[in-house]
Amino acid sequence: MENSPALRNWLDTMNLPHPLVIAGPCSAETEKQVLEIAHDLKDTDVSYYRAGIWKPRTRPGNFEGVGAIGLKWLQRVQEETGLKIAIEVANKNHVDLALEHDVDLLWIGARSTVSPFIVQEIAEALEGTNKIVLIKNPVNPDLSLWLGAVERLHKSNIKNLGVIHRGFSTYEKSKYRNIPEWQLAIELQTRFPDLPLINDPSHITGKRDMVFDVSQTALDLNFDGLMIETHCDPENAWSDAAQQVTPAALVQMMQDLKIRKETDQETEYNTQLSNCRAQIDIIDNQLIETLGRRMKVANDIGQLKKQRNVAVLQTNRWNAILGKMILEGESKGLSEEFVLKLFKAIHQESINHQEKIINS
Ligand code: PEP
Ligand code: MN
Repeated sequence: MENSPALRNWLDTMNLPHPLVIAGPCSAETEKQVLEIAHDLKDTDVSYYRAGIWKPRTRPGNFEGVGAIGLKWLQRVQEETGLKIAIEVANKNHVDLALEHDVDLLWIGARSTVSPFIVQEIAEALEGTNKIVLIKNPVNPDLSLWLGAVERLHKSNIKNLGVIHRGFSTYEKSKYRNIPEWQLAIELQTRFPDLPLINDPSHITGKRDMVFDVSQTALDLNFDGLMIETHCDPENAWSDAAQQVTPAALVQMMQDLKIRKETDQETEYNTQLSNCRAQIDIIDNQLIETLGRRMKVANDIGQLKKQRNVAVLQTNRWNAILGKMILEGESKGLSEEFVLKLFKAIHQESINHQEKIINS
């Protein structure tokens, strides 16, 4: 489904600030904690106050949320601070209770987005709502699950829809709790350009001292907002203690972040930008031509291997190419990770070609 006119950008129609800031604790713990944080976030850049009341924990035995009583505490937040309130919903019962208690924003968590059954149940329970509904990316880096969830909610005629990028789990060793895989969020935005895109640096990093940098990257990539877990006593939080920041740290961060404009009309800037883009277009064409030429040679090698009945994959040769190219790349300021990904893709395409040739 392409950019549907029904998916209007509610950020503009509701006159919400840029960036939209959603903050509050990972979990509502006590009424006192919920209200203390909310009062600290009143009169800041925060528009929506988040608090998990049903917590999806990967392993049982951890704190699983205070449940429906938390909705009463959040209503007090609304009354006392004027902040709008946001919770995660994971089934029809959660949705019904949230709507009864006039929750302003509901989000679907990463562990729910992976399940079309759950997403469908939530979509039906929310049918026609004018509340804001945000869909977190699925736990695993599977774009189609994320797109599928957007489509299911869209079919339920939910106008104020958006997405949250919270990173993806991986077996690879990484400094992140959930690796960002920024290109997946960008790909989703390309498919649905009118869907506001919010970044959740807390769940991406898992560490409070990394939250600022990921937030800045998100703003540099023109994300529409940030969801940042904020707690009055982060070290002693009942969930996600390592990644929550204090309200004071959040305020400081919002001051220090550089907010980018989507575009600029200034003539000199636009002239220089067009100039650079023209150069990029030429280089991209050259890249494709070079890759095409490389593939022709790989085809010739395929023919030679076929004649001599030699296997397609030559591991030693391949490792030698990789090692050389990583060094070359480094000298041009390209990361090892990028060079590896690039050459693995090129190599795979060559193998596919040679496979065809050798079996023809
Ligand atoms: C959360 O926002 O507290 C949460 C559980 O996040 P996620 O669904 O991204 O893991
Ligand atoms: Mn959390």
